[in-house]
Amino acid sequence: MISLEEAQERILAAIEPLPAEEISVQDALGRYLAAPIYSPIDLPPADNSAMDGYAVRAADLASATGENPVALRLCGETRAGNPFAGCVEAGACVRIFTGAILPRGADAVVMQEEVKQAADQPGKIIISEKVKPWENVRLRGEDVREKALLAGAGEELTAQRLSLLAGAGVAAAPAGRRPGVGLLATGDELREAGRALPPGMIYESNRIGLSALARQAGAIPKLYPPVADDLELTRQALRRAFQECDVVVTSGGVSVGATDWVRQAFAEIGGQLDFWTVAIRPGRPFAFGRHGGKLLFGLPGNPVSALVSFFLLARPALLRLQGARDLRPPASWGTLAEPLGNRGERRHFARVVLDAGGQVRSAGSQASHILSSMARANGLVDVPPGTTWPAGTPVAVLRWN
Ligand code: AMP
Ligand code: MG
Repeated sequence: MISLEEAQERILAAIEPLPAEEISVQDALGRYLAAPIYSPIDLPPADNSAMDGYAVRAADLASATGENPVALRLCGETRAGNPFAGCVEAGACVRIFTGAILPRGADAVVMQEEVKQAADQPGKIIISEKVKPWENVRLRGEDVREKALLAGAGEELTAQRLSLLAGAGVAAAPAGRRPGVGLLATGDELREAGRALPPGMIYESNRIGLSALARQAGAIPKLYPPVADDLELTRQALRRAFQECDVVVTSGGVSVGATDWVRQAFAEIGGQLDFWTVAIRPGRPFAFGRHGGKLLFGLPGNPVSALVSFFLLARPALLRLQGARDLRPPASWGTLAEPLGNRGERRHFARVVLDAGGQVRSAGSQASHILSSMARANGLVDVPPGTTWPAGTPVAVLRWN
């Protein structure tokens, strides 16, 4: 039995990111950059107005006050996308709208609200306040300079980063390929939802929960039919899944029971088991191995164990395959609202509810077949063996998402 950290390290050491592919920014949400992207332009590309108002020469208004306003000659108009061809000479101004390029000669914009039009002086506007040079002007390159880093290799393409890339005119980005993940559930007792449940059978839930977690981790899940507890059928199912997917995730059949065929079947089709059993609860009977360049995650059958071990061990691997830099689950600090203990001998990843006020409570029964407490929980707290923390203890909650 190895520690969680050793298991994580051995898994990640076995992984090379998949080859990158060029993705349109429209389709790149949630992907990971395979190479840094630098800005092809200054952003904004030119000095432009932050306001609707008048483009002026600040020096012309140096003496402007309420008692002694300055009249400027209006010599044109410019709107976003329609630059003014001329130059703003001394004593002149140009009507300007937000986003329009600052005309040559002008060095500031006076807000529309601070300007009057004199009925007796047609073609002139009256300004009774000074303006500082570059006031209300968005400067060329003040957001991003040409050749500056827009996003680094391994960073996730979030809505916000995609917006920055698009703003700098980047239409496509290299991103790690999304791994195909085959999901196999083993067990004679498994029936798919939507059918009647004969005596002795249970509904299969692991492929459903695991495929959702795989999808959240950016992978493309592929569900295979449940596999009976039979060595030959298990071999066949594994062989097919390894032909069709980059990663194969099995659930059940990986312990020491008489019908636990996954490890043997995997070895018999040419797979190499790297390690088996990890010192965590839930999730101890966990197998990791390689088949050619592909990976096996053999998860325990108990539904909570399957999801928790996937979350702690397979999720980082799927992220690494896509070239992600940060492989840790999102974590938030909270405070225990009640004691939380682990009387066992293995680290316990306890299902908890972290509320909006930062209070953390057990989500209910922590047995590894109890789905309702997992459904209620929004994260896990890593409790060391033989430890009880009193209410008030600050704890890190590993969030599902
Ligand atoms: P196993 O690891 O195969 O010994 O399974 C451990 C427990 O998990 C047993 O009670 C199984 O019935 C249950 N189990 C195994 N696979 C699944 C599955 N895909 N969905 C729901 N329960 C499962
Ligand atoms: Mg089984």
